[in-house]
Amino acid sequence: MTPISFEFFPPKTDDQRSTLEKTVAQLRPRAPQYVSMTFGAGGSTLSYTLEAVRELHVRHGLDAAPHLSCMGGTRAEIRDLLQAYRALGVRRIVALRGDLPSGMASFGDLRYASDLVEFIRAETGDHFHIEVACYPEVHPQAADAHADLAHFKRKIQAGADGAITQYFYNPDGYFRFVDAARRLGVDAPIVPGIMPIANFSQLRRFSELCGAEIPRWLTKRLAAFGDDADAIREFSADVVADLCRTLLERGAPGLHFYTLNRARPTLAVLERLDPAR
Ligand code: FAD
Repeated sequence: MTPISFEFFPPKTDDQRSTLEKTVAQLRPRAPQYVSMTFGAGGSTLSYTLEAVRELHVRHGLDAAPHLSCMGGTRAEIRDLLQAYRALGVRRIVALRGDLPSGMASFGDLRYASDLVEFIRAETGDHFHIEVACYPEVHPQAADAHADLAHFKRKIQAGADGAITQYFYNPDGYFRFVDAARRLGVDAPIVPGIMPIANFSQLRRFSELCGAEIPRWLTKRLAAFGDDADAIREFSADVVADLCRTLLERGAPGLHFYTLNRARPTLAVLERLDPAR
């Protein structure tokens, strides 16, 4: 069975907590290999991530992977967090640089995700399975595509076990990226990050920030549906399921779904891919 994983963000309010509870209950029967929980830079959501991981890992018994970003953090803070996750029995971490929030002046003790991976390995040896991020459409701050790929390789050399991509809607870009990584000697699994389309205007905003391209034909087709939410939902699920099918047929090792804490858009894709799963 194709390994799949689900990404959530940490809830901050009771309403958000109950939404996540329902979402987890709906997605759990799909047997994810693991679930991951994002991390906000600057410490503000730090405790929310830990708390949410505790819920998923200890109470729900899921293999929960906290995202951990080094942006703004000291070595001592990151060490404490690693200890806290170890104490919970967590075995998997998604290691990131994060982004500098507006108003925050300092990067913290570690500058890049490769430094964080190195630090985690130095502090905890092989305890954690480490995933890192990569960008088939190139990270927005990278000097160029070659430099970005070389930096990705550094993260793997620093000890990461695998990578999850930024989301994309063009499978060719993913396969070109994987080929280029293999030619550089990177043989770690590179799992495509999949963003089901729930709210198109929100997706557009996200995509501008993170540098993901929404193809013109997709924008035009979605715009033509106007306010017909049902038609948009059906069409988007078909498009994303086709993308997943192409990725799997051509060798992607799994799928990582950005759920945004909503079950329906991800389920609509999974039902089209494999109704029996
Ligand atoms: P890095 O790998 O450090 O790269 C950042 C930039 O620096 C790139 O342009 C790279 O080319 C360049 N670079 C790297 N090393 C060097 C070097 N030695 N010298 C010069 N340039 C270098 N953000 C969050 O805040 N919380 C999350 O939970 C979160 N989860 C994510 C999950 C996934 C799967 C993905 C794809 C992204 C996630 N992000 C998250 C966003 C991520 O933090 C941002 O994209 C961030 O801008 C880069 O993080 P990174 O780990 O890829 O950084």
